[in-house]
Amino acid sequence: MGNDYIDTFYRRTLTGDRRYPALGEAAVADVCIVGGGLAGLTTALELARRGRKVALLESRRIAWGASGRNGGFVCAGYSTGLENIERRSNAHDAETLIRLSMEGVEIVRNNIAGLRIADAAPTPGILKVLRHDGGDTLKRRRDSENARFGMRLEFLDSDQVRAQLVSKSYHQGLLDPDGFHFHPLNYARALAAEIIRLGGDIFEESAALSVERVQGGHEIATAGGRISARHVVFTGGGYTDGVAKRLKGSYLPIATYVLLTEPLGDLLQQTIRTKAAIGDDRRAGDYYRIVDGDRLLWGGRITTRTHDPRNLAAQLRKQMVGTYPQLKDVKVELAWSGLMSYARHLMPQIGRMRDGLWYATAFGGHGMNTTAIGGKVIAQAIAGESDRYRLFAPFGLDWNGGPFGRAAVQLTYWTYQAMDAWRERHNKA
Ligand SMILES: Cc1cc2nc3c(=O)[nH]c(=O)nc-3n(C[C@H](O)[C@H](O)[C@H](O)COP(=O)(O)OP(=O)(O)OC[C@H]3O[C@@H](n4cnc5c(N)ncnc54)[C@H](O)[C@@H]3O)c2cc1C
Repeated sequence: MGNDYIDTFYRRTLTGDRRYPALGEAAVADVCIVGGGLAGLTTALELARRGRKVALLESRRIAWGASGRNGGFVCAGYSTGLENIERRSNAHDAETLIRLSMEGVEIVRNNIAGLRIADAAPTPGILKVLRHDGGDTLKRRRDSENARFGMRLEFLDSDQVRAQLVSKSYHQGLLDPDGFHFHPLNYARALAAEIIRLGGDIFEESAALSVERVQGGHEIATAGGRISARHVVFTGGGYTDGVAKRLKGSYLPIATYVLLTEPLGDLLQQTIRTKAAIGDDRRAGDYYRIVDGDRLLWGGRITTRTHDPRNLAAQLRKQMVGTYPQLKDVKVELAWSGLMSYARHLMPQIGRMRDGLWYATAFGGHGMNTTAIGGKVIAQAIAGESDRYRLFAPFGLDWNGGPFGRAAVQLTYWTYQAMDAWRERHNKA
């Protein structure tokens, strides 16, 4: 109880449900990973593939947090754009970071193929659509990203978009055929099984309570046991707690919501005629896709309130029906929320606090590709293969501003919402 998966589409369609024991004794590892989301799992897997003995501690269940309950979009990029990245970094490193984010997509794709994770159900295509008329800007973006990064973005004019999405809310769009969407919980659990196959240890219901520096490394205590490890990697995402005090003070937990409709039946063809996943261009826009043949999995809204509102499903439903009035009678079967971890600079926080103490967190709303690179660059650093993790040095552990930080984020979001609404009403790019 309490520690099990919350009720989501992913839990309802989970294939197999292997449980891992709680830590009940003293254990030894080269690397102890604290947090069993996709950041922790990828770190552990990449290290296990390099012959390191890993022990992963998860407070609840594997991918219980954001990694097991998200929208399932996997595409290049970060929670912030190239311009913002360049501002803190430099033009060269910013380009390298974008390429790294593309590598993240390939890491996930290769894991699915290499480990034959059929129940991750990858489906190609991410379609980003505008809620205002802005085709010229979009064409320029396509040209620039295709030329600079070798992306293969395709421009869709309003008629092409509306042939696929039967909604008056949308104008032009960009299709990314290299992005895909998938079942993140089945994917995460398959990574866990592979870590075990490679000789790693996974402990569920085993929250790390303290991390102490000792001769030759660290000692990590849980309620039931202790792990001695040369290295520790914190990967607690939006659920990072007091065990990593410095990290806890440098991120903001932001909630976002998802709903699942009943089967749409014939309404599907009158609404969405693409298998691609869809997201709009607003700063906290809607993201949705068809799952299970003809159900809609619809996500949206962000808030700094970390407790679910009572009318969560109704709020999201209103947005869905606002975009597709033809869905006004469709029932919502399920709604849930999850916490993302955001840094003030909106980029992942990946680095080393001191010798042997690492972190990979703050992946925001773009974690499916970026947790993969976070895990990989940390594993490469620990294995002495590369120092690519230093690319993230300009995006450090800034103080999150405490309660004032939260208030500022919520205010910024409301301002964004107002600006988005204004832009839609005036149809401006
Ligand atoms: C509703 C929703 C929709 C989203 N949609 C998308 C999307 O479509 N595409 C995309 O790219 N991103 C999306 N995201 C963001 C993405 O899910 C996250 O960025 C990513 O999953 C973060 O992974 P993580 O491993 O850092 O954190 P999590 O997956 O949250 O994992 C952290 C884990 O650490 C554990 N933990 C914390 N403290 C301790 C401790 N002391 N000891 C042991 N364990 C601990 C927690 O229990 C948790 O399981 C979405 C997020 C949400 C919430």
